[in-house]
Amino acid sequence: MELERKLEILADAAKYDASCASSGGARKDSRGGKGVGSTGGAGICHSYAPDGRCISLLKVLLTNACLYDCHYCINRRSSNVQRARFTVEEVVGLTLEFYKRNYIEGLFLSSGIIQSADHTMELVVSVARQLREVHDFRGYIHLKTIPEASPALIELAGKYADRISINIELPTQKGLNALAPEKNLERTQDAMGWIREKIDEGRERRRSQSGRGGSLEGTLAPGLERKKLGKAVPFATGQSTQMLVGADSSPDAVLLERADLLYRDYRLRRVYYSGFSPIPEPSVRLPVKPPPLVREHRLYQADWLLRFYGFDVRELTSPEQPDLDLQLDPKLAWALKNRAWFPADVNRAPREVLLRVPGLGVRNVERILSARRTTRLRLADLVRLRVPMRKVLPFIVAADHHPAKQGLDSESLRARFLPPPKQLELVFERGPELWLPEPAELETARSGEI
Ligand code: SF4
Repeated sequence: MELERKLEILADAAKYDASCASSGGARKDSRGGKGVGSTGGAGICHSYAPDGRCISLLKVLLTNACLYDCHYCINRRSSNVQRARFTVEEVVGLTLEFYKRNYIEGLFLSSGIIQSADHTMELVVSVARQLREVHDFRGYIHLKTIPEASPALIELAGKYADRISINIELPTQKGLNALAPEKNLERTQDAMGWIREKIDEGRERRRSQSGRGGSLEGTLAPGLERKKLGKAVPFATGQSTQMLVGADSSPDAVLLERADLLYRDYRLRRVYYSGFSPIPEPSVRLPVKPPPLVREHRLYQADWLLRFYGFDVRELTSPEQPDLDLQLDPKLAWALKNRAWFPADVNRAPREVLLRVPGLGVRNVERILSARRTTRLRLADLVRLRVPMRKVLPFIVAADHHPAKQGLDSESLRARFLPPPKQLELVFERGPELWLPEPAELETARSGEI
């Protein structure tokens, strides 16, 4: 099979993996993509480095053949798709060629499992090893690892990669038993725990290597960190994972509880939520319709609230309402149910209370805390900070703003924030979307200001 055809197949097969953070953009079929800006099936995707830089990656599978039979995956062994396989040298060659032509800044490499987990992992590691050791490649490398592979191979992967990830896929073993019978949640978490220890050890070593000159830890994107430190980076600097949304019946509460545990116990950099999308020739065990797109978006917002705003999963969901409100962002939905917390005085309220005000993001809370040391904040000051006033006003007190308490208690307050009613489409191609976020709101969620 020609290299170009392999690239077309294996780049297309890799597009379902969101754990390199490339799922934020519009999904384009990489096959037959033509026109200005098209990457022409070459598997180039955009990802975001921890410092916010947008980087382009060659995102491919080593092979789309697989021994496993995960029902949600197009590459499962029972799937009737055309199979292809790169050699190690082919992936190395493509990465170097694309890098030299300035098409990409790094590689995201995953693979179906062939022969055994160890054999597959050896091939994946060989690509990274050749790039680093033979060609002195200092670009970004993200390797997908296999939890069943031996720790020695995962350790090698971590030595050559900037980021490694293991997809947890579903939040419960029950879900895995039904849809991915070969996968085991405990084994995956054990591997994550082990990777976490190695990342911690690497961090310590990096600190001692950087000596009195100060650590570069966290100050540079992984690719740049490696450029700066050369081959001295002793282990990947972070791990991430992906969870599928809507492939099984797990409600948002279960997804968020699992994500919360992964952040706390395994210090994952990111959990990516990937709305299950229908695949060609789907298994009968899968739902017919994908979840509404807005569900994935709400999960990302709730994820931010857990990590940066001091929220607990039990505050955002309850046994009676285990799913997030699709119509309102989770912070606003929480505020409307907990009105006794408000109004919060922007000139006096502690940081943790300000963080709970709908529309006040982390950055603006810091600005407010800093500004109020020297002045009493008025509404015009908040406008200057570009705070979304319509959202914030019922929940705050400012020097020149004292909302009537009855406004906050009003039954109609929720209705004020609901999206305008939409006429239903006559034909649904993807199932009825309850409501899609406005572009501005998406922007807010991406920047972390909720
Ligand atoms: S192991 Fe990975 S590639 Fe193989 S079927 Fe499962 S999800 Fe797909």
